[in-house]
This record gives sequence, C-alpha cells and structure tokens, in this order.
Amino acid sequence: MVKSPMVIVGAGLGGVRLAENLRNGGYDEEIILLGAEPHPPYDRPPLSKTVLTGDDERVDLKPAEFFDEAGVDLRTGTRVVAVDPSAHAVTVEGDGRTEQIEYGSLVLATGLVARTFPGTDGLVGVHVIRTFEDAVALRAEAASASRAVVIGAGFIGCEVTASLHKLDVPVTLIEPTPAPLSGPLGPRIGQMVTRLHVEAGVDLRVGVGVDEILTEDGRAVGVALSDGSRVDADLIVVGIGGYPDLGYLDGSGIEIADRSAGGGVACDGVGRTSAADVYALGDCANWHDVDGRPHRVEHWTHTVDHAAMVAAQLLGHAIPHQPVPYFWSDQYGLKFQMLGSPRSDDEVHLVDDDGRKFLAYYSREGLLTGVVGAGRVGKLMKARQFLLTPTPIATLLEG
Ligand SMILES: Cc1cc2nc3c(=O)[nH]c(=O)nc-3n(C[C@H](O)[C@H](O)[C@H](O)COP(=O)(O)OP(=O)(O)OC[C@H]3O[C@@H](n4cnc5c(N)ncnc54)[C@H](O)[C@@H]3O)c2cc1C
Repeated sequence: MVKSPMVIVGAGLGGVRLAENLRNGGYDEEIILLGAEPHPPYDRPPLSKTVLTGDDERVDLKPAEFFDEAGVDLRTGTRVVAVDPSAHAVTVEGDGRTEQIEYGSLVLATGLVARTFPGTDGLVGVHVIRTFEDAVALRAEAASASRAVVIGAGFIGCEVTASLHKLDVPVTLIEPTPAPLSGPLGPRIGQMVTRLHVEAGVDLRVGVGVDEILTEDGRAVGVALSDGSRVDADLIVVGIGGYPDLGYLDGSGIEIADRSAGGGVACDGVGRTSAADVYALGDCANWHDVDGRPHRVEHWTHTVDHAAMVAAQLLGHAIPHQPVPYFWSDQYGLKFQMLGSPRSDDEVHLVDDDGRKFLAYYSREGLLTGVVGAGRVGKLMKARQFLLTPTPIATLLEG
C-alpha cells in the first residue's frame, strides 16, 4: 500500500506517469518527484527525430501548471545520491546542498545513461543522444558537418541516420551484425531495413566494428574500422545503447539484476524490489515477465504500462495485465512498429511487401509471437488481437 510521503526518483516518463496515475486513482497525500535534469519532464522519442531535425524543440510531458494543479512537488536539478531503506530515506544533492528526504513509499524511475565509446569523453565531434542537451548539441554540429559516422544500427542509430539524412548530412552507418536491427528483429527484417538506408543513399557498412575514433588536435576526424578501412568524418554519433546508472543504490542492499538478464533494479512482476516499500519501473527496472523470466525493456509504452501497474499495486487496485508489448520507431517518413515479443531466431513470415512498406509475422513452435511492420499501421494494429491468446500461425497465414 502507498505510504506518505510518496517519493519518486526520476522525473522522466515513468515518474510523471506514476504521479499522475496515483492522483487519478485517488491518492491525495504528498508526492515528491525528484529529477536530476534542470528541465521539467520531457519526452525522449522526439530527440532523435523531430528535435534533431529542428522540427520541434523540447517536447514537455505535461504543461507547466500540471505539477501545481496535481499537487506534485516537482524538484528539478535534484539528484538522488544514496538510498537507505532501513531509515526510509534518500540523500539528494542539488543547488549546492545535500539533504535527506524521508519516504513512506519510494519508486525508482531513473532510466538509462547512454553508453559512450571508450576514451572519447569530452572529445569534440563525438556525440551520444539521451538528453535534450545531447540532441541540441548534435543538431548544432550537424548544421556544418561534411560527413557523419553513426556507430551502431539499432533503433536510435537508425533514427539518427534518417534524421541526419533529412538534414542533408551524408552518413556512414556502421553495424557489426549483418544488417541494421538484425539483433532484435533477425536478418530477414534486417534486410528490409537495409533497403531503406541504401535507397536513401546512406553508406551502410555491416559486419564491421569501429576499432578506434581518429583524432587530430583534440577533435574527431574519422573512424578506423575492424576491416582495416577508414572513414573520414567530422561528426560521430555513438548509438551503442544505454545502461541503468545505479551507483546511487550502492550500499543500499537493494538487489540489482544480473547483467545476463539485462541488469537494472531487480523486481518481481509488479515492480517490487528486494527492499520494503521500494519499487522500480521503466527503463531502469528489471521485471519478471508473465512467464517469470527477468527482463529489462527500454520502450516508451512499456514504461507507461509499468507506471499503471505500480500505481495500481500501491493503491490496492486490481493490477492491469501486462499488455501486449509495443514499440515504434520513425525512419525516412515510415512508422516502424513492433507488437508482441518477437525474437531474432523466430520464424519470420513476410505477408506484405511493396518494396518499401512491409508486414511480417513472427512465430515460434507454431504460435504467433510478434508482428513487425513499416508503414502498415492499420494492418499491424489489427493483428494485436491475435497476440492476446496463443494463436497458431497457420490460421493467420491461411486467413
Ligand atoms: C533518443 C531516444 C529516442 C527514443 N525513441 C523511442 C521510440 O521511438 N519508441 C519507443 O518506444 N521508445 C523510445 N525511446 C525510449 C523511451 O524514451 C524510454 O523507454 C522512456 O523514456 C523511459 O522512461 P523512464 O522514465 O524509464 O526513463 P527516462 O525517460 O530516461 O527518465 C529518467 C529520469 O531520471 C533522471 N535520473 C536519473 N538518475 C537520477 C537520480 N539519481 N536522481 C534523480 N533523477 C535521476 C534522469 O535524469 C531522467 O530525467 C527513445 C529513447 C531515446 C533516448
């Protein structure tokens, strides 16, 4: 049950949604929302899309008046540096001061930090993209860049490539696996994504890694690849993922999940951590899925679902079922979407392909596991119903 004061660490998507759900669910005692960033909470997906292309500025998650009206004590620029579950207190730093805040219930929603390329901290011309400042800095440098190298063709690397292409910056995209997105989605769909980048004129190098970022006079001038080649570039974007930065939990005794299971704060299936009255949600949290397997997910909708489940748990309401996982990505004017839990080694059934847009079903042991599409929003969403219960793939392919 929720105990006052309710302290939420991390004023991002998960933290804000949790506060909102608690208020909507009738909780009327103190909520303190602690955020390390100087800004009011904002949305991250636009960073690699419309913020990078200059079509949007920061996209705030809530209008400024929301926090006062909802009675949420938002403290920006306030970083939690320690948690003491036995004292039910967190230590915060901000504004040059250190103080302790006691909690009744505590929720950790601290997201991720971007992984950097070793040895490049502070190197001019090298960027990651996780925060608004990251996106603005990248956008500013893109304005005068003659060539960009994007390291890593996961979702964010692919989006950054598409956005830089829109800004007329020539891009070399480097990916060690055989195709973009083939890690999460397998080689067949990787080929469909390859097609989009190549058609756009991106210099796609697959099956090679970056050995070194080359520098001259303290700035990046290119990369040396594992096949012995070199790409000259004055803008380098490192898109090699992120990790939960949980140093503030050192010494707290709160269990951290094994790296082989995705790392993050170890939780049960409703966000409870190993400490009484402490929960975790969103990108930083490793929950048990419906089959009891620990896993950590870095998707927007997943975070929103977590926030609804933790709020229900805290309020003693019926907990909504874990819904069908959903993810989207925007590249080259196409909406990529993924429903369910497809794995890269699932069987892939391409049921629609016009050379650019496509729809594919994924199956394992004869049952539908996921649906992936590009530019096929309506058809993909219609398939959602088949992921609610075990559905033989044969019935879909025949239908
Ligand atoms: C560039 C980019 C594009 C994306 N695009 C998509 C997309 O197209 N589709 C999709 O499904 N998902 C996308 N995502 C993922 C999605 O944005 C995340 O899943 C979501 O933001 C997770 O929310 P969160 O609340 O867990 O973490 P976050 O949004 O990261 O918020 C965590 C907050 O906690 C703060 N914090 C961290 N440590 C502390 C501390 N010790 N004390 C106080 N505050 C702290 C951080 O500063 C941050 O503000 C994208 C992410 C990025 C970075």
